[in-house]
Amino acid sequence: MKGVDSLRERLTGEVVLPDDPGYDQARAVWNGMADRRPALVVRPTDVDDVVVALRFAREQDLLIAVRCGGHSIPGLSTCDGGIVIDLSRIRGVEVDPNRRTARVPGGSLLGDLDEAAQRFGLVCPVGVVSHTGVGGLTLGGGMGRLMRTFGLTLDNLLSVELVTANGRIVRASEEENAELFWGIRGAGPNFGIVTSFEFRLHPLDHPITFGTVEHPIERARELAALWRELAENVPDDLFLSFGLAKAGEGAAAYITALHSGTPDQAERDLAELRAFGPPNADSITVRPYLETQHLNDDPHGWGHRFYMKSAFLPTLPDHAVDLCVEHTSAAPPADEIGFSIWAWGGRISEVPEDGTAFTGRDATAWLAAEAMWDDPGLDEACRAWGRKALADLAPFASDGRYVNDVAEVGADVARTVYGDAKYERLVELKRAWDPDNVFRLNQNIRP
Ligand SMILES: Cc1cc2nc3c(=O)[nH]c(=O)nc-3n(C[C@H](O)[C@H](O)[C@H](O)COP(=O)(O)OP(=O)(O)OC[C@H]3O[C@@H](n4cnc5c(N)ncnc54)[C@H](O)[C@@H]3O)c2cc1C
Repeated sequence: MKGVDSLRERLTGEVVLPDDPGYDQARAVWNGMADRRPALVVRPTDVDDVVVALRFAREQDLLIAVRCGGHSIPGLSTCDGGIVIDLSRIRGVEVDPNRRTARVPGGSLLGDLDEAAQRFGLVCPVGVVSHTGVGGLTLGGGMGRLMRTFGLTLDNLLSVELVTANGRIVRASEEENAELFWGIRGAGPNFGIVTSFEFRLHPLDHPITFGTVEHPIERARELAALWRELAENVPDDLFLSFGLAKAGEGAAAYITALHSGTPDQAERDLAELRAFGPPNADSITVRPYLETQHLNDDPHGWGHRFYMKSAFLPTLPDHAVDLCVEHTSAAPPADEIGFSIWAWGGRISEVPEDGTAFTGRDATAWLAAEAMWDDPGLDEACRAWGRKALADLAPFASDGRYVNDVAEVGADVARTVYGDAKYERLVELKRAWDPDNVFRLNQNIRP
């Protein structure tokens, strides 16, 4: 490729081309369905390298994919024929225990942040699979088991350093480029390559209480009623998800809980859940927070095929639960398939809806249909299952969608995510910072 030798000379990092031995590994992303062949993968080691890679891509008029953890559900961090700017060499979290902040390089994974913060008895609320990227998760939202206590990941963002479309290095925070900082928090991948995040941390220096109680799917309605009651009445330091999962010929209903208060408080707040019985299984126990953050890592390892579709709900009525039961029972034979419904509220709803680009804070629940499988022959059945389930549940949904869950890409997607008013505000911002739409492999705001 023209200019690659001089790119190699200017970079401290690495360039991987299709004929290089590491190419197949370099082009792989988390979702096995996103099987694409970029013209080159560049792995910068610092912000100057990122500027060099971006300038090269623009000179060559290449389609640009930016990658942190590579977990984009529709595979937006890779492409055919373009360049992947893979930030995975830009890692190494620094915690300031006195200020309770963390500086997190743009290619870091959730596990890097969790481990660095917990060394000081601190925490930033992040997602539930430690090999997910801080980059994509934060720039779109960041839901996790501490969100009702400490907010979404992006609610804890203090500032970012990013490389803009014209190769400038810019800072954004509430004080500096405040409008850009507003858009970064929910529509971030549209505005630049974030090379560094600064987060606020919170104390969490005791073991937490975490686990799942599982019941036969026939008790789904009763269990959902209990979930509703708990979500309304317990303090914000309780994370609660209600779910349905198909397993072989059978199916189960479950509630997963994480209580970040003391073990005594947790025992009191979870007493009713544990007395609801008899369960098929109950794994609730006191354990280190970090242990819980790794429990999903292996089951959600790289390379499986995955589809999901989600919505925000103002309530979870019985009729919606019945629909979820029907769709779970009739689901195709994927390795993992079912629904996951997480209680919202707490800190998330205390941030004003127009305070960040993120949309959907008033919901009381987030609901997702999720399927994971390995056989490409099941692709169409699994996608169709998720689409039909969410179409049937649409009458129960409220406005907005969580951008990081959207498996479809297309011209109208971003408007459905942010709503008309925020979308127009984001278009203004996009015109100011990326008028040529250099960063378009994302849920795109069209300038
Ligand atoms: C197994 C799994 C578990 C998940 N769990 C959760 C969860 O618990 N909570 C939750 O909220 N979400 C969760 N998600 C969804 C997740 O938030 C998104 O998939 C997110 O986009 C992943 O970020 P990434 O950096 O790994 O992805 P990537 O594929 O690397 O990037 C995703 C998007 O962000 C852009 N991007 C990434 N880094 C940067 C950067 N530094 N600067 C500019 N743009 C960037 C990319 O260009 C791309 O458009 C999960 C996804 C998976 C696959």
